Order: sequence, then structure tokens, then C-alpha cells
Amino acid sequence: MINVAEVFVGTRALGPGLRTVIWVQGCPFHCKGCYSPEWIPNIPAKLYTPQDLATLVLSRPDIEGITLSGGEPFIQSEELVEFLTLIKKQSNKNVICFSGFRFSFLLQHPSPSVQGMLRLIDVLIDGPYVQEKETSKGLRGSTNQHIYHFTSTLLFHDFINQERVNEIHISGSELLAIGIPSPEIKALFGFNNKCGSQPKEHLYERA
Ligand code: SF4
Repeated sequence: MINVAEVFVGTRALGPGLRTVIWVQGCPFHCKGCYSPEWIPNIPAKLYTPQDLATLVLSRPDIEGITLSGGEPFIQSEELVEFLTLIKKQSNKNVICFSGFRFSFLLQHPSPSVQGMLRLIDVLIDGPYVQEKETSKGLRGSTNQHIYHFTSTLLFHDFINQERVNEIHISGSELLAIGIPSPEIKALFGFNNKCGSQPKEHLYERA
């Protein structure tokens, strides 16, 4: 099962085109200022089989791509390889993946599923979030993070300097902010940039 913190179908805030974002639950990093501290604990959240998650994503042919974030996607590489294999077999949706691990670490990792996942991703944004190196543009949270294009699919997109997009979605009493929050968004929602101190109803995503 894939342990998912949240799924959102139809955003333009985390990569080019209309995308589905899957934030996985559980992260071994504890970056100071993490935008999604609720999703660091490795506890069961929304459990999907790879097939069920693929069916959900494939049910929207207008969705151009998938963004994987969290949490840390690579700690669920076995299940995500299964999911991504189904997606790539049945569609041409592109895949962007955020990871707190460095690409050099992932590249040398002995796990076949880690290597499999690297083969199924179009773009990897790697490295932990470093608050002191925060940037206000592009899809990186901080300047220590690097963008790796494993295919030419998304080479047209400027991941580093493009103006950020933030979307606020309200569903009942829940509020979901999608995108890397700008200083204005942080101020608007009283986000105090301390890991673990986020008000429960405010779910900020690092990407
Ligand atoms: S910023 Fe990302 S890598 Fe760092 S603790 Fe938060 S979810 Fe994990």
C-alpha cells in the first residue's frame, strides 16, 4: 500500500501544466522550517494500492503530469515503482519528484526499487530544505536543491527562475495550500516557519 498524506487532482502550482500532486506520508528528514511537518511522522494516513492510485490518476486524461512530494517519496519506492509503471504504461503523463535525498545518494543506492523509480521520473528536485538558503522563485524550496532532468520532456520549463504559483483550496473546514509558499502567503496564514508548529488545518506543502 502507498501511504498517502494527501492527493490533489488539477493544480498548476507544482510544475508545468495541469497536474495531480501526491504527497506521501512519512519523512526521515526533519528540516528546520519544513512546510509540511504534519506529514513527517511515519504513521498510516490514506492507504492506496498502486492500482487504485493509478486508476484515480488515469481517470483524468486532461491531467498532463504528476508531482510526487511529501513526506519523502523514496522511502516508499517499492510501491511507487509499481504505481509509476502503471502510469507510464497507460499514459504519457510526465513525473516530477521531490526528495530530501541527494541524487548522488540515490544513484548509488542498492535497492532495485530506488533505481527503478529513478528510471520512471522525468525530473528530480533533490536535497533537504535549508531555511537559510530559501529562494523566492521557482520550484526549489532552497538554493542547495538541484534540478535533474532525466528525460527531455520538461526541459522547456524554467524550474529555477519561474514566478511561483500558490493555490488555496478550501473543502469544508479544511484548507489546502498548494505550491511553495511565498512570503506573502506565509504572512497571510500566520505560518511561523517552525517545523511541527503548524496549525492543523493549514497544510502547507513544500512541493
Ligand atoms: S522539507 Fe521535505 S525533506 Fe525536509 S522534513 Fe519536510 S518533507 Fe521532509
